[in-house]
Amino acid sequence: MRVCLCLLALAAFSLHAATPPKNEILHGKLVVHSGEAPVIETAEHKRIVLDGDQPTRKVLHDPRVNGFELEAHGHFTAPDKFQIDPQHTRALVVLEGGKPKMITYWCDVCYIRAYAPGPCVCCQKDTDLDLRDLDDIR
Ligand SMILES: [Zn+2]
Repeated sequence: MRVCLCLLALAAFSLHAATPPKNEILHGKLVVHSGEAPVIETAEHKRIVLDGDQPTRKVLHDPRVNGFELEAHGHFTAPDKFQIDPQHTRALVVLEGGKPKMITYWCDVCYIRAYAPGPCVCCQKDTDLDLRDLDDIR
């Protein structure tokens, strides 16, 4: 029994060592001001600067998402800096009425969906922010 426990402990240790950095989920309110780094304000009123890949950055700089309740998956790069996982992993969702929603952008002319704000790839019209149920997209 003792040998067995030892092996378990060893296995747990090696697993831990193999998977840095630790993946975490961050909850809070998104604060977007133009010209400033986007931050998430946690329930404890801690402000944590957010970063991510290119499409994630674009979303985080969209003033339309300011004030949203967010859930971000990723890891801390510093005590007050959080790197969000790549966007295709759906690491960033909005909580609307407690339900997770994906941030998407919709062109109602071409019926094209995008995952970053900006002009439609087809007609160049500015796309509309469109929060989608995660279940609808999967
Ligand atoms: Zn279009």
